[in-house]
Order: sequence, then structure tokens, then C-alpha cells
Amino acid sequence: MANYVRHAAYFPAGRSDPVVIVGAGHAGGTLAALLRQQQFDGAITVVGDEPDPPYHRPPLSKKFTDDSMIQWLKPPDFYADNDIELLLGVRATRIEPDARRVYLDNGEYRRFGTVVIATGATPRKLMVPGGDAAGVMSLRTIADARALGHAFERAHSLAVIGGGYVGMEVAAVARSTGIAVVVIEREKRILSRVASAQLSERLTEYHRSKGTRVITDFGVAGFRTAEGAVIAVEAEDGSVVPCDYALVGVGAVPNVELAQQCGVACDGGILVDRVGRTNVPGVLAIGDVTRRPHDALDGRYRLESIPSAVEQAKHAAAVISRDVSGSHETPWFWSDQFDLKLKIAGLLEEGSTTIARLGDTPAAFALFHLRADGTVCAVETANSPRDFMGGKRLIAARVPVDPVALADPGVSLRDVFATGSVIGG
Ligand SMILES: Cc1cc2nc3c(=O)[nH]c(=O)nc-3n(C[C@H](O)[C@H](O)[C@H](O)COP(=O)(O)OP(=O)(O)OC[C@H]3O[C@@H](n4cnc5c(N)ncnc54)[C@H](O)[C@@H]3O)c2cc1C
Repeated sequence: MANYVRHAAYFPAGRSDPVVIVGAGHAGGTLAALLRQQQFDGAITVVGDEPDPPYHRPPLSKKFTDDSMIQWLKPPDFYADNDIELLLGVRATRIEPDARRVYLDNGEYRRFGTVVIATGATPRKLMVPGGDAAGVMSLRTIADARALGHAFERAHSLAVIGGGYVGMEVAAVARSTGIAVVVIEREKRILSRVASAQLSERLTEYHRSKGTRVITDFGVAGFRTAEGAVIAVEAEDGSVVPCDYALVGVGAVPNVELAQQCGVACDGGILVDRVGRTNVPGVLAIGDVTRRPHDALDGRYRLESIPSAVEQAKHAAAVISRDVSGSHETPWFWSDQFDLKLKIAGLLEEGSTTIARLGDTPAAFALFHLRADGTVCAVETANSPRDFMGGKRLIAARVPVDPVALADPGVSLRDVFATGSVIGG
């Protein structure tokens, strides 16, 4: 708690010490709103380098062909109405923890009692010839999504480089609008980092059934261009895939520069404790930029998801109010691809066994992943909200289940515990 004692030398008694949040994204915006909701009476400044107030990013890869993709986190007036200073189009350039100041690229600075780094992540670039050509795009912001929407109005063919969730969602939207789509994946299967082999296989088949070409084991050597614009993707083995546009979705790199510069420890993300505190007094970090421990898991994780951003914002709000207890929810995530509503909970573990629980149609299923001791480490569902909720409960319960009962959709998930298991034990 020593880190969060009042700094009388900087701030007069009375109101709480100011909070400066760097990054007006999902985590930063949620934290500002939570603090006011919880009657925090100090000054709050949110600094964001994008021109827009905090918004939801998930719709950007699911419905970017029209402006219904823009969903504000809070109504734009919310911030002024709640005495939150929202500085948009402004970048924080330096944090001085000893002087308790954040410097901004508009020449100003803000004082803080606590600064919260919520700077998110930036799409990873493909450092190959032609990687900067016109028509080679990435997707993180409203501006990116608008550019992609305009491209769709002209495109006959799209190459999606990287079969991750964002790439597969964009592929689904593009295909649904009649564009010829090729997904190009370097690994042996799509979603290799984030989904089980069984889910990858099912999704690959689903996308193929809609007419999308999915090519795996394809390392991109570069982009062929004509008059500065992309016309094809070239593989390391010399093969060529023509395209009008290319979307690069090969992961995101955490924006740690500001943290590193002020002495905050980073290693594949800003290292924080279980409630978001860094090694530097007065400096917290939340959202996609962090790598954090989780009560139910070994090791540290950089979880890039809305539920994780919101959970971390809650922890930071509690820390600022001097409460450091903070519980951890089972990590979860969702994705929409064509008519598949995917919901995934938990994390896959090496050596786990997969049990499929099939629904009424091929588009409805749940894949449960069991550890050797019969407990559930993860569940991947499509169009099965009940299995998702039940699976999430099974993960938290950490009680062995009976695989035969689990595979039978006629058996309720309340009744799948292995004989002799003590529920809640
Ligand atoms: C296309 C897309 C689809 C997604 N779909 C899903 C989904 O279906 N489900 C799900 O759970 N998650 C999804 N996600 C992930 C989710 O959106 C992120 O986990 C979430 O936005 C993380 O919030 P954040 O606040 O940590 O980062 P961000 O929302 O990225 O916000 C960080 C902000 O900080 C700004 N910033 C960085 N440096 C500075 C600086 N020095 N000064 C000022 N501002 C700065 C950035 O520009 C950015 O605006 C998706 C993400 C994308 C891009």
C-alpha cells in the first residue's frame, strides 16, 4: 500500500489525488466511467491519440461495411457530464513517476497521483517487400475499418494474411458480400495459437463451404505491386496469389514504449501484479498492453479481449480506492463468423483431450478440453450459449467430469460430474 499513500508534496488535502489514464480505448474508457460510478472525487484525465471517444472494437471486424460498426462505449457527452477531461488526438509522450507528471505532445502536462497505462496494442507489420503498398491494410481503428469498407466497395478479390480471429471475421464479411477471398496462413492450420485443432478444422471447413480458399503452410515472401498498389501475394516457395487488396492480420504488438521509458518492467507486455500494479509506485497498467498473472492459471498471460480489459479496469478502480483484493473471472472471448456465434472460455493446455458435444445442426457444437485428471481447462462453442455458460462453470468448479456424459447432449451439464466428485470441492 506504500505506493498509494497520499503525496502531500504534490496535491493539497481535500479531493482524491488526480488520476491520468493514458489510452482512450476499452480499458481506459471503462476505468474512467467506473471511477465516477464509484464516486471517485478526484480529477480524471483520459488521454487518447485517436480522434474518437472510446468505442467498441469488436464490431469493426464484423460489420465494417457500414457505420453501424461505430458503437461508442459511452455517449460522447458522458465524459463532460461526469467531469472527466477527455483529451482526444493527443499523445502522451513521457511519464515522470517521481515528479508525478505525464507530458503530452500538445506541449502540456498533467499531474497525477496515479497514472494508468492503457495503451493497447498495434497490428504487427509484415516486414516484407511491398508491405507498405497501397491496398495492403490492417485493422485496429475506426479509420482502418472505414478504409477497409471503401476497399470492399471496389474489391473483386481479397487476400487475408493470417488466419487469426480478426482475419477470419473479415474473411467471413468479405465473402458474404460476394468478394473472392483467400486466407493465407503460415502455420499448418488457422487459429493455431488460440484454438484447438478440432475447432480450427471445423472453421476451415465452414469457411471453405462458403467459397473461401484457405491456404495453410504459406509463408508470405512479399507483395507484388503495380503502380504502387498491391496486385498479388508472393509465397516463399514462389507461388503467387493475385488480389485487389490484402488485409494483414498477424497479431498485435503491445504498446509498451511509454512504460519502458519510465522504468516500468516489460516482457512481452507490461508486467503487472494480479490487480494491475507495476513495479513503479503510482503507475498501474490495464488492458491488452499488460501481461498478468491469473489466480486460476500458472504463469502470466497477455489476454487480448474485452472481458479481460473490463476485469482489469475494475481491478484498477478498486486499487485506486485502496481495495486490492480483486477476483479473477475465467478468461473468455467471442467471435462471429458467418452465422457462427463462437464463444470460448478458459485456455487450452498441452496434452488435453477433446470431447465434442454436438447440437442439432452442424453449426451448433461445443468442444470441451479435459486435463488428464478429468477437469475442464477450456470450452469452445458455436451457437451453444448454454454449453458455453455450463462449460465456464465447469472450468471454475475444477471437478472431474464423466467424458461419456459430457459427449451426450441429452445429459444436462449439471449432471456430468464423474462418480465420486465433490461439487464445489
Ligand atoms: C478488429 C478487432 C476485433 C475484435 N474483436 C473482439 C471480440 O470479438 N471479442 C473480444 O473479446 N475482443 C475483441 N477484440 C479485442 C478488444 O477489442 C481489445 O481486447 C480491447 O480493445 C482492448 O482494450 P485496450 O483499452 O487495452 O486497448 P485499445 O482498445 O486498443 O485502446 C488503447 C488506446 O490507447 C491509444 N494509445 C496508445 N498509445 C498512446 C499514447 N502514448 N497516448 C495516447 N493514447 C495512446 C491507442 O491508440 C488506443 O486508442 C477485437 C479487437 C480488434 C482490433
